Amino acid sequence: MEDDCLNMSPLGLEAQDKLGTVCIFGTGDFGRSLGLRLLQAGYLVVYGSRNPENSSLLPKGAKVLSHKEAAEYSQVIFLAVHREHYDFLSDISNQVEGKVLVDISNNLKKNQYSESNAEYLSKLMPNANVVKGFNTVSAWALQSGNLDGSRQVSVCGNDYKSKRIVMEIAQHLGLIALDYGSLRAANELESYPLQLFPLWRLPLCIATCLTAAFFCYCVIRDVVYAYATEGKDVSFRILISLANQVFPVVSLIMLALCYLPGVIAAFLQLYNGTKYKRFPEWLDKWMLCRKQLGLVALGFAFLHVLYSLIIPVRYYVRHKQNSYLAKQIKNNETIIFQKFYAWRNDSYLSAGILGFGFYLLLGITSLPSVSNAVNWREFRFVQSKLGYVTLLLCTLHTFLYGWDMFCHAHNYRWFLPPTYMFSLIVPCIVLILKVILVIPCVDTAVMRIRQGFERHAEKTPYAKKASIRGTLAL
Ligand code: NAP
Repeated sequence: MEDDCLNMSPLGLEAQDKLGTVCIFGTGDFGRSLGLRLLQAGYLVVYGSRNPENSSLLPKGAKVLSHKEAAEYSQVIFLAVHREHYDFLSDISNQVEGKVLVDISNNLKKNQYSESNAEYLSKLMPNANVVKGFNTVSAWALQSGNLDGSRQVSVCGNDYKSKRIVMEIAQHLGLIALDYGSLRAANELESYPLQLFPLWRLPLCIATCLTAAFFCYCVIRDVVYAYATEGKDVSFRILISLANQVFPVVSLIMLALCYLPGVIAAFLQLYNGTKYKRFPEWLDKWMLCRKQLGLVALGFAFLHVLYSLIIPVRYYVRHKQNSYLAKQIKNNETIIFQKFYAWRNDSYLSAGILGFGFYLLLGITSLPSVSNAVNWREFRFVQSKLGYVTLLLCTLHTFLYGWDMFCHAHNYRWFLPPTYMFSLIVPCIVLILKVILVIPCVDTAVMRIRQGFERHAEKTPYAKKASIRGTLAL
């Protein structure tokens, strides 16, 4: 690798610095930021510009020359120029021959061109070794030094040696370089900066829809109903009481939605008798965003905990309790302590606390720094086994909260059932399906399928092979 670095300065500038010289075409935002970082890392920097004399604001210590002259100074040329302007390169094709040309360009929208910028550049400069990289870091992140945003630099290219040189430069700048394969992957790298939380979109959409729907439902059932039937204005309940009815419902439904695709997938595999048949696209997408679904669900659970903790200090609650107490004193009443209610209340609270504890554990283990520290089996144990325990505890917490509420007609205001009842539907479906899946004969069938066994193995030679593999694995 040392040799590669020395080759970067064919004109003898390497004597001044062992890291060698890097050439940057373009003195715009990215070119300047990259030049600054390279100089700080110990490289020499030569800019190639259309107007070397008029270039300003360049980092101290960098040279500015014409494109032709600058290209002579280094084996590696970063192209900090927009794709639309690449045609100027045809005038200097001799100077860039055999050199590493780093395409850092991004587009304004996905699939803007029929081919990736890097492949286009490679066709334009067939004698150069084009490498795609650095397009996922912003000029600001490079300049600020503390590298806000991702420090990951994915690099792809058809020439392995050229790729290694670019990756080494990235590492010297304090970035994490990843080999992303051949130049065919450039399209994917160019799409990456255009993405906006793709895996969070569905969970956030579900959370917003559920929150809005349940909030409207609660307002109608509590506030509008009280006003319409008794003429009472209880709109002050919207901010805390109603919010605290909605958050746990959304949280529990979303937690169940994390586990529902897994059980649907298992039933589909049982139905198909093979794991080699693709899942429908919607199920694939759903499975991919389970972590995000869980984290949003955890956020709602957290809000529920916070809102519940402040209940005793609320004016409305204190007033209600004091009035009740005063009424008892006035009427000289004594309330008998009922053990059954004490048990129910404590069970309800402890199921909630334990459920939230496990919920937090699931959230923590889904963080990359934690999940990297556990092996696959440990990760599966926490996310799957403890995940179902969490779902069970949170469902139990909700059951104990409602208890016999569903039996009393006065809870069905305008025939609308209490909100908590809705939150039990999806979790109960998931838990029932899971119980079916853990029945030994069903569990064994799913395990065999997941190890490669196929029910209709004899039909295709491929299937037969897979089936034998599965049997051997068992
Ligand atoms: P910029 O500020 O507009 O700079 C582009 C530079 O290209 C100009 O300063 C100019 O340098 C040169 N140029 C302009 N017209 C040209 C022409 N007709 N022929 C030859 N050279 C020409 O753009 P930028 O933000 O630095 O971005 C440069 C590239 O980096 C783009 O492909 C962009 O997608 C990519 N990128 C940028 C960022 C970012 O955060 N800015 C992040 C990732 C990737 P001279 O006047 O010296 O010739």
